[in-house]
Amino acid sequence: MESEKSLTDKNRRNFLKGLSLTVGALTLGLPHLASATGHTGKPGSRILHDSYPNPQQKDKLGIALVGLGQYSTGQLAPALQQTDDCYLAGVVTGTPAKAEEWKRRYNIPDKNVYNYDNYDEIASNPDIDIIYIVLPNSMHAEYTIRAAKAGKHVICEKPMATSVEDCQRMMDACKQNNVKLSIGYRLHFEPHNKRVMELGQQKEFGAVQRIEGANSMVVDGDPDIWRLDKKLSGGGPLMDVGIYAVQGACYTMGMKPDSVTASFGKVTRPDYFDDVEQSISWKMEFPGGVVADCKSSYNESASRLYGKAKNGWWELDPAYSYAGIKGKTHKGPMNLPHVNQQARQMDDFAQCVKTGRETPVPGEMGKRDVEIMMAIYEAARTGNKVKLS
Ligand code: NAD
Repeated sequence: MESEKSLTDKNRRNFLKGLSLTVGALTLGLPHLASATGHTGKPGSRILHDSYPNPQQKDKLGIALVGLGQYSTGQLAPALQQTDDCYLAGVVTGTPAKAEEWKRRYNIPDKNVYNYDNYDEIASNPDIDIIYIVLPNSMHAEYTIRAAKAGKHVICEKPMATSVEDCQRMMDACKQNNVKLSIGYRLHFEPHNKRVMELGQQKEFGAVQRIEGANSMVVDGDPDIWRLDKKLSGGGPLMDVGIYAVQGACYTMGMKPDSVTASFGKVTRPDYFDDVEQSISWKMEFPGGVVADCKSSYNESASRLYGKAKNGWWELDPAYSYAGIKGKTHKGPMNLPHVNQQARQMDDFAQCVKTGRETPVPGEMGKRDVEIMMAIYEAARTGNKVKLS
């Protein structure tokens, strides 16, 4: 089952108190520092940051986490203790008490701690090479664009944004500022999911005939959380966890669907689900007619990716969790290693920055998935089949 389970949102008020963005801060014409893109060398080799005021050599690139909520605290910071090509160099938080705790726990110097007011000043900090946006979904666009303007490479959490237009603005900003952009699609670095990509795309068991995907979790407790507030989340379980089933279908096929149909499930808990959907089912039709049948809900638990091919089948269950993914095919268990997905994902991006290689999870992929999810919502609202461009 998807592990994005703990949905407390205690810091929201603190954050809002601390957040006093001024238009000036947003539009500051801060000096743009060229990035470290384009350096040659093998992963882990020493690189020269000739664009920084004090040229220096680095084995490990510095990452700053923006937003110290559940995912940063429980997964990303611990993963950054296991990375080879990057390390936790800084944080951006609206909560001073958290800043103190993180400084102590991770030995982060004062000069690498920012809040949402002085965030743009990160531009002149040579310790920070990569900014990782781990904020509520509708904030991804603004903080990615500001990171790009500060001349920093960006990892942005999924979903990339809450509109296709925002995704495009993020990609444009990164391109204009010559920085790399990747999306936090950790499963592209997970052996079982990689095996499914191979089985589906290389047709090891023949052509894919059918896909099923489900990713759901139970949301209860405080109903006043950003995930249930459409302005911040962009939608319900589809945007949050169903996105993994969308991804699973696309990477099984190695392409995007032609069209989608969808329907919202019944709302049995209106006290929670008066703004975002409680559950949604959808079908993605791929070129050639293969259909992926998917579901996502905030009122049950599921984590599954199944593929049926001409001469066999495979199944991951759980498919999308941080740990404990299990896979089998018609021949038996997959027997693949378990890895720290986030550590692999961040190391891979750091290597991309060091060597100039393209990330396998770029902004284009994030935008594709937001396009698909917007089409799924339109199909559920209208009852029509919605074609994708
Ligand atoms: P969270 O609620 O635990 O943390 C959100 C953080 O944003 C908090 O530190 C909070 O203080 C801060 N924040 C700033 N402005 C806020 C506002 N207006 N309202 C509420 N919080 C605000 O959430 P999370 O689970 O850490 O998720 C953060 C992002 O990471 C989301 O985009 C989510 O989709 C993504 N995520 C990805 C994975 C994954 O497996 N890749 C897992 C969990 C979360």
